[in-house]
Amino acid sequence: IDIEQKYGSLTRGMIAARKARAAASKSNGQSATGKSTTVFMTLRNGLQELVTALRDALRGDVITGCGVSSIQPQGNGYTLTLDDGRQLEADAVVLATPAFVSADLLRAQHPELAAMLDAIRYVSTATVSLGFDATDFDHPLNGFGFVVPRKEPTRLLACTWTSTKFTHRAGPNTVLLRAFIGGPRREEFVGLDDDALISLVREELHAIMGISAAPTVARAYRWQRGNPQYDVGHLERVDQMEALAPPGVFLTGSAFRGVGIPDCVKQGRVIAEQAAAYIGQHVPAEA
Ligand SMILES: Cc1cc2nc3c(=O)[nH]c(=O)nc-3n(C[C@H](O)[C@H](O)[C@H](O)COP(=O)(O)OP(=O)(O)OC[C@H]3O[C@@H](n4cnc5c(N)ncnc54)[C@H](O)[C@@H]3O)c2cc1C
Repeated sequence: IDIEQKYGSLTRGMIAARKARAAASKSNGQSATGKSTTVFMTLRNGLQELVTALRDALRGDVITGCGVSSIQPQGNGYTLTLDDGRQLEADAVVLATPAFVSADLLRAQHPELAAMLDAIRYVSTATVSLGFDATDFDHPLNGFGFVVPRKEPTRLLACTWTSTKFTHRAGPNTVLLRAFIGGPRREEFVGLDDDALISLVREELHAIMGISAAPTVARAYRWQRGNPQYDVGHLERVDQMEALAPPGVFLTGSAFRGVGIPDCVKQGRVIAEQAAAYIGQHVPAEA
């Protein structure tokens, strides 16, 4: 989104980035500030780093690896029952779960809100990562990958040339590609088994990029109902859902006001402030 807003389109942004890269490599890979230039950002050791950093930064008891199975109003707050039967007393609850999970947790007391949460559409995607020995690979990888326009007949949504986009993601003399399958147009492919998904991707990459080398590693991953879809009128419905949420219950996450990780971080900050303000106003300070 940042790239689109700055350059007017993703394509123009990519062209500008390529020019910036070329200029940077001429000046020994360094920008005027002395830092390497790239338009993409990620966490060096994968996105688990974000979760681990949050867990380490939070004070109080942090419980991971155990879901919430119900939320019941209790006095001025709520009782949460966990999947393992434990119960927690809460003054406020921030639901950062997928909208369909939040719907299940709120349905008994708030059926209208639950119905609206359930109506947020989700689609599934799969990714296939293929690793190659660079010596077997004759494509120049002169870019970061490609996104397939809707009118093209291919079964892929996109392919990231991971080892070009993030050089630390693959070892020396190794090429790593990640293809995306499924989404709103081709969701049925997500149901294929691993071998079929990998074959599909290899066929498409052969047709699009001319790759015939056999991968040295191939992995398929599925993200079932991992992508919320915003239909027309979404933000108005989000306003209504927020108004329907009971006191002390806050909704956040990719289903609401932006799907990307930066959007989720931004929403999380806003909601954390709202929850803290709610507690400050409604919960008597401990003596
Ligand atoms: C293949 C793929 C590639 C993507 N690439 C990018 C990218 O390059 N850049 C980008 O910005 N975004 C990307 N996204 C989007 C981004 O990853 C998601 O939008 C973001 O992770 C959503 O965060 P979230 O916290 O809302 O939801 P989630 O990450 O889905 O988190 C929801 C959490 O709720 C937990 N949960 C579920 N049920 C319960 C329960 N009953 N009790 C307690 N907890 C529960 C789950 O375990 C999970 O941890 C990508 C998404 C996909 C699927």
